[in-house]
Amino acid sequence: MTISAQAIWTATILSIQPQMFPGPLGSSLCGRALRDELWALENIDIRDFATDRHKSVDAPPAGGGPGMVLRADVLGAAIDQTAQRQTPELQGRPLIYMSPRGTPLCQQRAHELSSGPGVTILCGRFEGVDQRLLEGRDVEEISIGDYVLSGGEIAAMVLIDAVVRLLPGVIGSSESLLSESHEGNLLEYSHYTKPRSWEGRDIPDILLSGDHGKIAKWREQCAKQITQSRRPDMWAKYQGKK
Ligand code: SAH
Repeated sequence: MTISAQAIWTATILSIQPQMFPGPLGSSLCGRALRDELWALENIDIRDFATDRHKSVDAPPAGGGPGMVLRADVLGAAIDQTAQRQTPELQGRPLIYMSPRGTPLCQQRAHELSSGPGVTILCGRFEGVDQRLLEGRDVEEISIGDYVLSGGEIAAMVLIDAVVRLLPGVIGSSESLLSESHEGNLLEYSHYTKPRSWEGRDIPDILLSGDHGKIAKWREQCAKQITQSRRPDMWAKYQGKK
């Protein structure tokens, strides 16, 4: 009888700065989950796939201009050889390139990725990567926001953190995930804790009333008000979905 073990959610990182990992992902919630084998990290150094004697991974842009570009041949070899070594369950994982030109990362995509077998993430550096690599492989480009970072590594950490906390068993109470900001197009309600009065500001009476029905209503109202005033774009979507 063969027992096929369920593969754990695995993030394979392709980077020229592999020493940056696990970095912050090795601490706190994600770090504990990593040690508990609720997810796995595979750290690949793109430079290992360079073929010339200088181990070069980048070259000046065709057509001139500033900076350097990561080479398609080196990245292609890194992607292909890394994929070939994977077990069949991990071979179907999406290949993501962190890029300011990508689709903005959202909570829905984080959920989708958390229910799959994992991700392979290509981290860019310098001016980015050769366009032919993006076209020649099935690459999904994801951005973490409308600003430019110096490399894809921190962006990859952001994506992984957003996904790992959704994996089963990572957060003790999965209930706490349900009401969070960006779940269902509402920002989260405001939180309060001890002391009851601080610098003349009191915890709203209703939260201390013990009436769970009223508390739920207050929180819903609070979430709606905050969303409407801060994120008209989300509020319009929320109204549309009702
Ligand atoms: N010349 C590029 C920017 C390169 S920044 C441009 O103008 O589009 C260097 C690398 O950092 C990129 O290859 C990408 O991997 C990463 N990066 C920068 N900003 C990012 C963002 N907002 N989201 C995700 N990755 C980003």
